[in-house]
This record gives sequence, C-alpha cells and structure tokens, in this order.
Amino acid sequence: MSAPHCVIAGAGIAGLTAALCLARRGIAVTVVEKRTGFGELGAGLQIAPNSGRILDDLDLTLPLKRVAVSSRALTIRRWGSGGEIVAMPVEPEPGQPPYRLLKRNDLHTVLLDAVRSMPNIRLLVGRGVQETVQDEQGVTVTLDGRSGETLSGIALIGADGGRSRIREVLGDEHPPSFTGYEAWRTVLPATGKEAPGVTLHLGSGRHAVHYPVAAGREINLVIIRQAQEAREGWSREGDPAILREHVAKASPALRALAASAPSWLVWSLFDRSPAAMAQGRVALIGDAAHPVLPFLAQGASLAIEDAAVLARHLAAALGSAGNAGVPMALAAFAEARAARAARVQDESRRNGRTYHLGMPLSLGRDLVLRRLGARGMRERYRWLYDWRDAG
Ligand SMILES: Cc1cc2nc3c(=O)[nH]c(=O)nc-3n(C[C@H](O)[C@H](O)[C@H](O)COP(=O)(O)OP(=O)(O)OC[C@H]3O[C@@H](n4cnc5c(N)ncnc54)[C@H](O)[C@@H]3O)c2cc1C
Repeated sequence: MSAPHCVIAGAGIAGLTAALCLARRGIAVTVVEKRTGFGELGAGLQIAPNSGRILDDLDLTLPLKRVAVSSRALTIRRWGSGGEIVAMPVEPEPGQPPYRLLKRNDLHTVLLDAVRSMPNIRLLVGRGVQETVQDEQGVTVTLDGRSGETLSGIALIGADGGRSRIREVLGDEHPPSFTGYEAWRTVLPATGKEAPGVTLHLGSGRHAVHYPVAAGREINLVIIRQAQEAREGWSREGDPAILREHVAKASPALRALAASAPSWLVWSLFDRSPAAMAQGRVALIGDAAHPVLPFLAQGASLAIEDAAVLARHLAAALGSAGNAGVPMALAAFAEARAARAARVQDESRRNGRTYHLGMPLSLGRDLVLRRLGARGMRERYRWLYDWRDAG
C-alpha cells in the first residue's frame, strides 16, 4: 500500500515546517509554492522556546546554531531618554532551547535544506493552488499555470499566508484590515558593541525593536509607527528623511542606530480575525489561519506550533482509523489550536496599544512593568514560552 499523501499550499515557515513534521511521521507531502524563488523576505525573527523546541525535535539545532544568536534578555527602554524600564531574562533554563534571534531568510533556508533532504517531500515551485474540491476519499487541488493540472491527496494544508487563497476557497468572509501601523525595517552591520539580546524602545505612537542576527554579524532594526494609509508588499522603499523626522526625539543611541541604516523597507500591518482552522479535509495553518501582529514576536512561532500539532493529529488518525479518520483529525487539530492562536493574536494587539501609549498613561505602564521586574516578566510569559505539544 502506498504512503498517504498530503498537499501543502505555501512554502513559507508554516508550510515547510508542516512538510517536515508530516514527512517524519511517514506521510508523503507535495508542497506547492506560488513564488518562483526564495529571496530575502521580511527581516529578523525571534524564535522563542515554544517553537524552538519543535525545530530542535526536527534535528535543526546545529544548522540553526550557525545562523542564530541566543538572546540573553529582552530589555525595555524609554524612547526619549533610553533609560531602562525593565529587562526580562530569556536565557535558557536547563533543558530549554535558546531564545533565538535570526534572519527570517536564514530560518527559511535551514527549513528548505531539510525539506530537500527528505525523499518523501516534493517541492513544486512557481505554481499556485487555485481551487480545491473534497469528497469522502480525499482532496483534488487545481494549480494555476498549466491549464487544469491537478494534485490529489488525503488532505490539503493551506499554509499560504495572510492573503490565503485557501481561506478564500473555504468561504471566509473576513478580509484583512489595515491596523494603522506600519513597520520600517532595516538590517545593519553590527559593530560588536550592541546588546546581546532584544531591545525595545517605547514611545508615544511608536516603538522600535532591534537585535543581533546572522550569528551576530548584523543588527535587525524595526521601527513601528502609526500611518494614515496602507500599502502592500515588503519591497516598498522608505524615505530616510521621513524616518529621521520620526526618530528626532528618540534617545541618542537609537537615533545613531537609525541614522546608520543603508535603506529602509516599509510594511503596512494588517490584522484579520482567526479563521475556522479546519473544514473536512482542508486545514489552515500559520498566517493563513491567524495572522499575528508583530508586537509579541510570535507569528512564525505560532505557525511552527500549528505544524507540529497538525502532524501529530493526522498521523495518529491515520494509524488508528486510516484515511477515513482524516476529517476528525483535522477537526481535533483545529480545536487544539483555536484558543491559543486567539490568545496570541489578542495579546499581540494589546501589546501594540500599550507599547504606544502617550503621557500620562505611559507612566502607569512603566510603573507596572517596573513593579513586575525581571522575575515577574518571566513568570508573565510562561504560558507562552513554556508551551509544549501534548503529544
Ligand atoms: C515586521 C514583522 C516582524 C515579525 N517578527 C516576528 C518575530 O520576531 N517572530 C515571529 O515568530 N514572527 C514574526 N513575524 C511574523 C512572521 O513573519 C509570520 O507570522 C510568519 O512568517 C508566517 O509564516 P507563514 O508560512 O504562515 O506565511 P508566509 O511567510 O506568508 O508564507 C506563505 C507562502 O505561501 C505562498 N503562497 C501564497 N499563496 C499561494 C497559493 N495560492 N499557492 C501556493 N503558495 C502560495 C507565498 O508565496 C508564501 O511563500 C513578524 C512579522 C512582521 C510583519
């Protein structure tokens, strides 16, 4: 009997991680990716222990070590003075994976290399999933490009990002909406004097975050500000003069860092309510299911968690009930993930609001953070970072 076969739409972090998790459980996968190549996309990523332990279980510890920095702390500072409000230690506790800082593209390359080494994963690049129909036996997926080309499998996993076609095909009627925030991002050469962790600068209507990436050779800097109108795409160039004005009242350290940026790319931030994560033999994971604002740095982590939980449910159902168990497995996956995904989305939105508070409310926020202190901050985020898949 041939191995069960799944189709995954999208070779982003969600899709590639899902492919690895499924393939390791003996399920063959075809990953269909609309883009024709994998260039630089996005900037830095923080991979916290909740998703880092899944990557370790996929034997990616060594390749990740070559490209990531292990963060020691997350330090929150005031925008204007640069004074420290609080620092949360994120050094790994015994048996915990590190809190990794890396370029999104480096993580993508590590995943892609692993995918290419698996004989039961096929990667189809330059082809988008257009339509899908399902029946009691499986799904049939129609690709764009060559007319009428189809793939079939026991399930379709929609890992096709915040503008998911699969979500649309499932009849979702909640389009993404502009949040009023835009992220300016850049990558700078490191001088060696930067903090070996994540630094946040909180200002009124704006904040900045920076941390080392590329094994410490570069610094990822993102400045998030409020904006009137939304524009699409990663590749919109930002005018440095606008940015200079924006950081004019920032601390000298932040101003100097921003001034040394060679160029800026601007990304408008969209939000979207969570989708039903499964419908029959079709499931949604990652941004396709629940795009997350970057204020908790958890979008990719949530996608990686989804991938592991989905693979566990699917493999268990195939083992006990065979192909007939697939819809039940996907429903169980959706149930297992809904509350956590919604909580991460909500907390990210809340952070956005509190990060950007103006005077005098920001004084109250800073007081609460200082009272929490290093240990209190760590305890506050245990629900997030200590998460483990039940299986
Ligand atoms: C400024 C910023 C900072 C961030 N920082 C962090 C962070 O520190 N930590 C963190 O965990 N997350 C962070 N995130 C979030 C994170 O980048 C995303 O949540 C994550 O990358 C989503 O991965 P994905 O695979 O679900 O989607 P995507 O990365 O969007 O991948 C989807 C893929 O599907 C493909 N595709 C689309 N349509 C089709 C189709 N019809 N058929 C086939 N393929 C298709 C696309 O080409 C793409 O390759 C940040 C986001 C932003 C904007």
